[in-house]
Amino acid sequence: MLSFFMQENNIFIIVLVFAYFFNEKSLLSRYETIYSQRFLSIIYSYMHNTGKKESEAGKTQFEMHKTLILIKPDTIARGIVGDILSRIEKKSLKIVAMKFIDMTEELCREHYAHIAHQPFFPKIVSYMTDGPVLALVIEGIDSVRQVRNLCGATDPQFAAPGTIRGDHSCTIDYNLIHSSDSIASADIEIARFFITEEVFQYTKNVYVN
Ligand code: GDP
Repeated sequence: MLSFFMQENNIFIIVLVFAYFFNEKSLLSRYETIYSQRFLSIIYSYMHNTGKKESEAGKTQFEMHKTLILIKPDTIARGIVGDILSRIEKKSLKIVAMKFIDMTEELCREHYAHIAHQPFFPKIVSYMTDGPVLALVIEGIDSVRQVRNLCGATDPQFAAPGTIRGDHSCTIDYNLIHSSDSIASADIEIARFFITEEVFQYTKNVYVN
C-alpha cells in the first residue's frame, strides 16, 4: 500500500483527484499540463513495448547478455571488417569470441530457417557461402538491441546513415552483417556456432560494464 503512494506516477494521480474533488483550479492547471505529458509518455512506452521482441522491451535494457554477429563474406572481401570491430569496441561492447567459419548450405538452411521458403533464399545461400564468414559473440548491457542498432535496418536502402548498413551498403543482396534479433535467438545462435570453451570471460573496462 505504502509503495503505491511512493510511486511518482501515482502521486500525480492522487493530486489530480484531490484537485478535481476540491475544484482547485490553480492546482488543476499546474498538474494537468505536467500530467498529460506524463500520461502520454506512459501510454507511448506501453504501446512501444507491446508486441515487441524480448530484447526490445524496456525491461531488458539494463541486463547484461550475449549476442551473435556474423560478418558476411562481402564485408571481408571489401576489407571493412576493421570498421565494424571498431564500432563494436567504441560502443563498449565486449568481443568474447571470434572465429572464421565456413557457412555450408546446410548451416544456411538451419540459420535462416525462417526464410528458407522465400524465392530469394538460393541467393542468400550463394551469398553466405561465397567466402569465409567471421562469427563473433558480443557481450554487454542490452547487447542484442545495441548491436541491432549499430547494424541498422535489414535493407541497407532504408538503413539510417551512421549505421553499418546505412554507411557501407545500398542493397539487401549484400547487407554485410547478421545479428541476433532477441535474447532467446542469440542463445540458440551462439550454441549453433560456438562451443562453451570458445567463449571467453575477461575484464575489458571497469568503467563501462
Ligand atoms: P536480419 O535479421 O536483419 O538479418 O533480417 P531477416 O532475418 O529478415 O533476413 C535474413 C537475411 O536474409 C538478411 O540479412 C538478408 O541477407 C537476407 N534477405 C532478407 N530479405 C531479403 C530479400 O528480399 N532479398 C535478398 N536478396 N535477401 C534478403
